[in-house]
Amino acid sequence: MTTLLDLTGKTALVMGVANARSLGWAIAEQLLSAGATVAFSYQGERLRSELEKLTAQYPGTLLQQADATSEADLSALFERVKSELGGLDAVVHAIAYAPREAMEGRFIETTPQDWDTAMSVSAYSLVGICRHAEPLLREGASVISLTYHASQKVVPKYNVMGVAKAALEAATRYLAADLGAKGVRVNTISAGPMRTIAARSIPGFSSMYEKAAATSPLGRNASPQEVGKLGLFLLSDLSSGITGQTIYVDAGSSIMAMKLDD
Ligand code: NAD
Repeated sequence: MTTLLDLTGKTALVMGVANARSLGWAIAEQLLSAGATVAFSYQGERLRSELEKLTAQYPGTLLQQADATSEADLSALFERVKSELGGLDAVVHAIAYAPREAMEGRFIETTPQDWDTAMSVSAYSLVGICRHAEPLLREGASVISLTYHASQKVVPKYNVMGVAKAALEAATRYLAADLGAKGVRVNTISAGPMRTIAARSIPGFSSMYEKAAATSPLGRNASPQEVGKLGLFLLSDLSSGITGQTIYVDAGSSIMAMKLDD
């Protein structure tokens, strides 16, 4: 991979890599090739071996289990990051979950439990993570997360996840306002559809993927590598004046109301 920036000496924490297709990994690859030291947290020990494989060429990489909804896990994670890395210049939140049942039926059928789960894992976790990270964030540090356009427009089956993404985008603005005084920036990347494990749990994802490509101005979907490049930009000094924003990397599909057949 060509190195776009030099981040030697910078430290980052990437949360939410499940495998090589994860958008968190696409961002981590860019950070690693720019020379940053990257630590990873993952949900559940079953994911550890995947991360060990992915980071095999970076010996000594900090890998730690942390459920984003567990205060105890987050405390332990940030304690370890503090003692091993000292501080952080970048945090990547690439975490989302909603029970499959909540994405199969009508939105109106969402149960209070499914609502709470989706909101807690996919939106509130950004707030909790920023609160735990705050004492470690250095001047000029940058936090990013990943969102999707179903926060703004109705996307069939996205249901409560669309509402959770709207909350994530609003939380991004409030966090940016809180952390701006310390020179810390918070932004979210709105990615077009990508074939990841999380996407597979969305009913009808394949058809959504094809339709988004067919209607986008570029006539295709954006790639995970393009998400990675936007992540690198937002986590670097190149984006020093940008905070509180939702920035799209979707080959333009969100600007189209419709496309007529030729
Ligand atoms: P993925 O399945 O590779 O990653 C999702 C990650 O969330 C997994 O690593 C999973 O372990 C983690 N996670 C879920 N619950 C957790 C919890 N309680 N604690 C800690 N981690 C938890 O899928 P992805 O598509 O790379 O998802 C990353 C982000 O990108 C998500 O926020 C997703 O909504 C967003 N996104 C994805 C797409 C897409 O089409 N794939 C589009 C736009 C935005």
